[in-house]
Amino acid sequence: MKNREKFMEQFKRLPTIESQLPVEFGNGAMFEEFNGKCNGCHETIEENNFRGIINKIKEEPVSSDNSLKTEEMADLIAYGCCSECHEITPFRYLLSAPEGQLTLSEVTETGIKKHKSKPFDYDNYLRNFL
Ligand SMILES: [Zn+2]
Repeated sequence: MKNREKFMEQFKRLPTIESQLPVEFGNGAMFEEFNGKCNGCHETIEENNFRGIINKIKEEPVSSDNSLKTEEMADLIAYGCCSECHEITPFRYLLSAPEGQLTLSEVTETGIKKHKSKPFDYDNYLRNFL
């Protein structure tokens, strides 16, 4: 079986991002919708074509006055399957809401956004499921 087929099998087993929204933070802030563009044809990927995992993380950083400050975060890993060109586009964001202000931080360590023209690396992404 080709890696693309293997990946697509795993992809179909992932829950939709839509089904995991909204993400509600302890301070009342809400992350309600996720969208993104296809790396292949740059069309907007339909909302129900995103699958992946949203993990809630609770961090307790120590602030400068040594009091504990709780900040909730969510780690969003999503794969968007384009209905136009069938390309898979990966997304990874850390969501947080310090002082009720919703913040999205793109996780760039994989360098994916810098290599838009490269074909999707199925080998690399299959590892995430093993
Ligand atoms: Zn596309």
